[in-house]
Amino acid sequence: MSRRIRYTVDGRIVPPGELIRTARGWAEPAPTHCPAGHPLTGRALVGWIPCPGAGRTGHRTHECPECGEIHYRPPLDEPLCDCERRTGRLPRTD
Ligand SMILES: [Zn+2]
Ligand SMILES: [Zn+2]
Repeated sequence: MSRRIRYTVDGRIVPPGELIRTARGWAEPAPTHCPAGHPLTGRALVGWIPCPGAGRTGHRTHECPECGEIHYRPPLDEPLCDCERRTGRLPRTD
């Protein structure tokens, strides 16, 4: 069984990359687990890297505190940005 990364806001499964309206205002979806299965909710180190690609400003990053795996949203392996090369990160392939 391949482990799919789910994104949630307040425990609700939501599509990644969209802001979700909550009682507290707009919230950003966050992954529940890293690719290795470590729980990330409330524990991930959240960051941001700028992206020179057309039509986007950057990538949200969530880093697993246990294995250091970093999640990028949107992913780095899209042709319109060269962040994969810039960061030296290879996208995970499942
Ligand atoms: Zn990029
Ligand atoms: Zn992990």
